[in-house]
Amino acid sequence: MTSPSHDSTTERPDRRGTNLPRVAGYNQVLVLDLIRRFPGASRSDLVRRTGLTMQTLSNICHRLSAAGLIRESGRIQSGMGAPRIVYEVSPTGRYSIGLHIDPARLSFELLDLAGNSVHNLTVPTPAAPGPSHFFDVIETQIGVLLEQSGVARERIAAVGVATPGPLDVEHGSVVGPPQLPGWGTVRLRDELEQRLALSVVVEKDSTAAAIGEIWRAPRGTENLAFIYLGSGVSAGLVLEGTVLRGSGRAAGRLSHLGNIGHLTADPEGELCACGGRGCVSVSSLPSRIIEIAMERGAVSPGVDTDDARAVETALATLSQMAEQEGDAAATAILENAARGFARVGMQLANLLDLDSIVFGGPQWPAFATACLRIAPTMVNEQYIARSDHEVTVRGTAIGGHVGAVGAASLAMSETMFDAPAQLYLR
Ligand SMILES: [Zn+2]
Repeated sequence: MTSPSHDSTTERPDRRGTNLPRVAGYNQVLVLDLIRRFPGASRSDLVRRTGLTMQTLSNICHRLSAAGLIRESGRIQSGMGAPRIVYEVSPTGRYSIGLHIDPARLSFELLDLAGNSVHNLTVPTPAAPGPSHFFDVIETQIGVLLEQSGVARERIAAVGVATPGPLDVEHGSVVGPPQLPGWGTVRLRDELEQRLALSVVVEKDSTAAAIGEIWRAPRGTENLAFIYLGSGVSAGLVLEGTVLRGSGRAAGRLSHLGNIGHLTADPEGELCACGGRGCVSVSSLPSRIIEIAMERGAVSPGVDTDDARAVETALATLSQMAEQEGDAAATAILENAARGFARVGMQLANLLDLDSIVFGGPQWPAFATACLRIAPTMVNEQYIARSDHEVTVRGTAIGGHVGAVGAASLAMSETMFDAPAQLYLR
């Protein structure tokens, strides 16, 4: 698997096409990807960007068009010559499905080839411990998604799954995720491929969210951290338009990239097992914030902080008390959490020279108001390179479905835009 790459082809000579027959599939993928990223590109634009001859490019456009993957979006008359044909991807040419596994809910998303959301649905994550019943629910719901949307299974390029880690990328397995009780090692990819008869790719939830954020509107030069607030807190990282995966891509290793549990959120916070003080994992996990709120009487005692849904409900209450009722204790707790997330964002920005920090994930709505009030100023006041450029701090542009959208984007990217061998023209 390779990451979606959004860099400019003109700046990457290794991606330029040639006319050798053995790279015909590669050239098709290249042209399709360019048409996706630059809708309204004409044949001469595409010749310039790819280095292909006009004849080769025309042949490729014919094949992509015959396969229903691109269509003419208009003709531009300039000067005396023949009008220039311009293209865009044909949205209904293919679809992909994204599944986001969260301890509280399963979100499903159906995207078309242009990255538009066609249909989505959400069901509670089965409460029974362990994954067996869970797979039945996924299989049923994907059937429902297809039936409700009227999209035939044959039009699905692939299924992407976003899941809490740790992840064995080589085998597409999750390995004893602490947030999904009763799970040992679960071969998600193999099990789902067998049940669905579709190709399946598996990715960490925070990384999938970062992919979702850049897929629909790639700028080519993104440097962003997606700080994902779920049951855990982790980061998806995009540098120079490329999604980072780390050494977890190597055979037999688990992916740990984006583990920000031991960055400092609160310099005055509790000691952590790692020897640090006020790490994210002892100060900023949503469950920990609810524990603090119970200790201070801001939330009624008795919330089971191991239950993701109970934590989410309690956070929603805390947020409502702070933002709508002006409760001082609730406000102080959420603002302290927001300062912690800002500190973490600032450390990432300093290390990686980021342009933007994006927050999202299932628990984000409860923190959004306090975080957007505090973090943009705090990050930029303390950011080391502030004299050079600002860091944009914002909430996800996609909203609550960003994990599922990202998983679907990844599936589409890997089968249609990154892997020539898998591009089947019919
Ligand atoms: Zn620590």
